[in-house]
Amino acid sequence: MNKNEIVKVNITDLGTEGEGIGKVDGFTLFVKGGVPGDVVEAHVLKVKKNLGYAKIEKILTSSPDRVEPRCPVASRCGGCQIQQLCYEKQLEIKKKKVFDCLTRIGGVDPESLEGCFEGIIGMEEPWHYRNKAQYPVGIDRDGNPRIGFYAYHSHNIIENDACEIEKPLCAAVLKDLRLVISRFNIMPYNEMVGKGELRHCLIRTGFSTGEVMVCLVINAKGKELNKWKAGSEMAQTLVKSISEDAVKLGFKFVSLCINVNTKNTNVILGDKLYPVYGPLYINDMIGDVIFRISPLSFYQVNPVQTRKLYDKALEYAELTGKETVWDLYCGIGTISLFLARKAKKVYGVEIVPQAIDNAKENARINNITNAEFFCGAAEDALPRLNRDLTDAEKCDVIVVDPPRKGCDEKLLDTVVKMSPSRIVYVSCDPATLGRDVKYLASRGYTLQKACAVDQFCHSMHVETVCLLSRE
Ligand code: SAH
Repeated sequence: MNKNEIVKVNITDLGTEGEGIGKVDGFTLFVKGGVPGDVVEAHVLKVKKNLGYAKIEKILTSSPDRVEPRCPVASRCGGCQIQQLCYEKQLEIKKKKVFDCLTRIGGVDPESLEGCFEGIIGMEEPWHYRNKAQYPVGIDRDGNPRIGFYAYHSHNIIENDACEIEKPLCAAVLKDLRLVISRFNIMPYNEMVGKGELRHCLIRTGFSTGEVMVCLVINAKGKELNKWKAGSEMAQTLVKSISEDAVKLGFKFVSLCINVNTKNTNVILGDKLYPVYGPLYINDMIGDVIFRISPLSFYQVNPVQTRKLYDKALEYAELTGKETVWDLYCGIGTISLFLARKAKKVYGVEIVPQAIDNAKENARINNITNAEFFCGAAEDALPRLNRDLTDAEKCDVIVVDPPRKGCDEKLLDTVVKMSPSRIVYVSCDPATLGRDVKYLASRGYTLQKACAVDQFCHSMHVETVCLLSRE
C-alpha cells in the first residue's frame, strides 16, 4: 500500500479515537469517519510498517448503522468523534469495549463477567447534554479572531454556532464575546508566539439551577489585567449582553471571572482567579444535594447521567448507615456527599485545593456533618491518614474515581491494607480499570458487578462502575 493510493476497504471495527478500521493487503487501515459495516473507497494519507491512515473518498455501501450527523461540522470538529454512528450502536460498542477491557486486560473470566455485567446505561435524549464548554480563542490565517473547538488532532479552531452537545446558550455567549473582542480590540492568543491576551472561554451551566458561569482565560499581568476587572467598560458590556441572552434562553447569568494563564502550555487554566461579576462559583444539584463548583474544580459534564452513575455507586456501596466510607479522588465531594446521608462517616481525598474548599463548603451548605475532606495526592495522603486512624475509624467501603490514568499502585496497596469489605471503582477509562482490577484480584478483591454509563454520547469515552469485594 502506498501514500495517495485509492483502496477499497470493508470497515469492520472502530479504533480508540472513533476511526473506522479495516484490513487491506495485511495492512490495518484507520479510516476517519468510517463506520463498521461500511464499504468505502479510501484515500491513503500515511503509511507505516503495517498500518496506515486514510480518509473516505466515497462510500460504496453504507453501513445500516450509519446516520447523518446532526452537527453541520461533525466531520471537521474534534469535539465528537462518532456522530455518524447511530446511538444504539454507539452504546453497543462502548459496552463491548468495557467487557473486552475487563476480560482481556483485567483477566476476568468472560463467562463469570457475562453473569455480573449489567451492560450500559444510555441517555434517552443524547443531545445538548454537556454542562461545560471550553472554547479556545485564536486567530485564523488572515489574522481574524476565531472561537470554537479544536479540529481533530490539530489546533485549528472550528467555529460552530449549532453545537449539538452543548447548550444553545454557549453559542449566544460566544457571539457576545466576539462583539466585545472587536469593539475593544482584544488580541486573541497566538500560541505559536505566546502573544495575545484572550486564550479560552469556559462556560459552566448548572442544569438544575439554571445558573451560568463564564470564565475567561487571560494571558496578561499586573496593570494589563485592569481592563478585564470588575467595573471596566468591557466587563460591563459583556455582563449586560450575556445576562440578556441567558434570560431569553431560560438561564441566569451569575458569575463572570477571569483566570490568568501566562505560561506557554496546552494546560488551559492557570491557578489565579479573579471575580468580575458575582461569586467565583455556581450552584448545581444532584439528587437533593446542592454543589458549589469553582471553575478550577472537576465536575462531571453530563448531569443527567451523573445521577445514574452515582445511584449505581450508591447501590454497589450497600450502605446501611453504619459504614465508614473513603472517597478517593473526591473532587468537590460529589460522591462523598451523595453517600454521606446513608453512611456513618465519609472521608474524601483530593489533590486540587480549590476542589477541597468547595467540598468542605458543600458539606456545610447541605448540613452534612459526617463528611471530612483532606487535600493531597491520594497515593501519599491515604497511607499517612491510614496510619493516624484508630481501628474504629477504619473503613468498610472505599470508593475510587481516578482520572484516566487510573490508580497509583501505592494507593491500591494502601486500599488493600485498609481491608474494606467493598471497593467501588468508578472509572473513565476501561483500559486502566482493567489493569487495576487485575492488580486488585491478585490481592484478593474480585469483581462482583460492573455497569457502564454513557456520560459522553457521540465520543468514544465511557464511564464504568465496578464493585469488588474480598473472596
Ligand atoms: N469523584 C469526583 C471527581 C472525579 S475526577 C466526581 O465524581 O466529581 C478525578 C479527580 O481526581 C479530579 O478532581 C482530580 O483533581 C483528582 N485527582 C487527580 N489526581 C489525583 C491524585 N493523585 N490524588 C487525589 N486526587 C487526584
